[in-house]
Parts: sequence; C-alpha cells; structure tokens
Amino acid sequence: MDNLLTINNLRTSFFTHVGEVKAVRGVSLHLGKGEALGIVGESGSGKSITMMSLMRLLEENGKILEGQVLFEGKDLTKLGEKEMQKIRGNDIGMIFQDPMTSLNPVYTIGAQLIEPLIKHKNMSKKDAFNTAVKMLQLVGIPGAEKRMKQYPHEFSGGMRQRAMIAMAIVCNPKLIIADEPTTALDVTIQAQILELMKDLKDKLNTSIILITHDLGVVADMCARINVMYGGMVVESGSTRDIFYNPKHPYTWGLLKSVPNPKNISKERLKPIDGQPPDLLKPPAGCPFTDRCEYAMKICKSNLPPMFDINDEHKAACWLNHSLALSLDTKVEEVVFNE
Ligand code: SF4
Repeated sequence: MDNLLTINNLRTSFFTHVGEVKAVRGVSLHLGKGEALGIVGESGSGKSITMMSLMRLLEENGKILEGQVLFEGKDLTKLGEKEMQKIRGNDIGMIFQDPMTSLNPVYTIGAQLIEPLIKHKNMSKKDAFNTAVKMLQLVGIPGAEKRMKQYPHEFSGGMRQRAMIAMAIVCNPKLIIADEPTTALDVTIQAQILELMKDLKDKLNTSIILITHDLGVVADMCARINVMYGGMVVESGSTRDIFYNPKHPYTWGLLKSVPNPKNISKERLKPIDGQPPDLLKPPAGCPFTDRCEYAMKICKSNLPPMFDINDEHKAACWLNHSLALSLDTKVEEVVFNE
C-alpha cells in the first residue's frame, strides 16, 4: 500500500512560563492510502498535539523543533501558512469531539458547507449548494435541504456531529483526522457515528486517523493501532497484534480498562494506577516506569528502543529484549527495581 502520510521523528514543545513542555518526543508513524489508523492513549500522551503539529494548528507558544511530516511526499513542516490553508479542509479534514469548535454558531449549516466548496473547489453557488445537500444526505441527515437553512444550535448532539463530518468530507479530502469524535455522545449515537465513518471510508476511500483514549472505539474501524504514552509511540502494530499479542505493559493496562460486553456483569474494569509523566521534566528512561509493575532497573535510566516483534509490530519495552527473556528464572534478583 502506498503511504499517504509519513511522520519521522517529530518533536513538538510548548514554551510556558514554567519551562519547556516536551509534548511530542520523537513520534514516527505512517498511514497508507485508504487506510484507517487508530492512535490510542490517555490525555496528555501527545496524540492530539501530534495531529495539531501535522495540521500546523499549534498554539502560539507551541513549536515543531524537529522532524518531518510528509503528506504525499511534501513536508508540511516547511510550508507557509497560505499553502497550509489550502491543504486544511481541501486535502485534510478534521472532526473534533465538540462540533461547536468547528461549526460557527452564527452561520447556517448550509453556508458553512458551501463556503469551502466555493473557496477550494471553485464551484458556482448552485453547484456548491447541491453538493452540500448531497453531503448532508450522505451522512444521514434527514430533510437535508431544509436543514441547510438551520443553525448549529437547532441540531441535536448526534446531528451536529454528523454535520461536522459532512464539513470534514465536503471537499473530498484524502485524509480525515477524527479526534475523540464520539466521546461526548451517548453509546447508541456513538455506534452510529462510528458506523457512518467506516461506511464513508469504504465509499470514498479516504484515509482516517482516529484518535481516542478508548481501545474499544478503534477495534472495529482501524486495521492498525499506535499506542502513545508520555509523548511517544510505545507500541504499534495491526489491530489483531495489539488486541491478541500486546507487548507493552501500558497496552495491557489499556486493554484491562476496556469493558467486555460478553462478561459485563462479572468483570471489574481495572484503571491504570498513577499519573502520566510530567513532560516539563520527562524521565530519562521509560516514561511508564513509575506506573509499571514489571519495571526493572534499566527502565529508570535507559529509554527502551522500539523492539521488532514482527514486520509491523513494534513495542518500546525492555521486556522485549532478548536478555530479559533469557534472565527469566533470575529476573527478580537481577533486573527488578530495588
Ligand atoms: Fe515497564 Fe520497563 Fe517495559 Fe517500561 S520498559 S513498560 S517500565 S517493563
């Protein structure tokens, strides 16, 4: 599969009055054409900031310090604001958790759908109107023509989310970035929106990056998953590998916090105890050390590299070092924290 997006060693920091917050610390990932990739991690893991860096939508005190973001071979970190404006909306669409961050409350839904079509696709007003109506129909909004004249506050939560998806896809982008698109919705609407996104991906062959804190959300839609922690990718692999052969204790913790619908009454969900690392002073070693029940001496001092588990499955955990396995019987006396 050809790559649409390749991120190489991306580093992004925020410069605050208390110091440099190293929010993204050497993230590398790739996404194929027509592929759906899940990025999973807690708040503060760096997943949204990685995407904001990609879109060049960082706040004023945020800066990309290093790395490449290659979109169709073009390094987005090198583009000027005008070129980026063309790419945003036209080639890359975004869906946020809160529709009101991208829907303007003072314009009708129709006006907001028509504008990018005129601006980016040079459509006449009439063609833009017809395309916008088709988009609302495509995302399952009934009475689309009538809805074009309504304002965002006249839509229910689920319908607003659908309208935002229509906005994200109206220019037929090559990539959609969906950042916690269903977190604010109840479970039934959440399932409908995920089904809709899956359907659109298949119909339009759009690539999708789905960002979420919930592994359960990506299971059905994404072929591959990257798990992020402490500003880094700590495990990446096929959805099957991540669910059935995870190789990082943080992923094990995430999996234990996903409810199993077949066993809902018996099972107790287990949260991951402790706090994520302070990215003002990131640890020298593995960022998960303080919360990891398998932590060894080496974990505190040395950052684990990405160990290859198979061709596409990698995990940044010292437990995957051949020596950790060969020390099996003596592991407690030799490598565990004192
Ligand atoms: Fe735990 Fe060490 Fe692996 Fe980090 S490297 S996840 S601390 S065992």
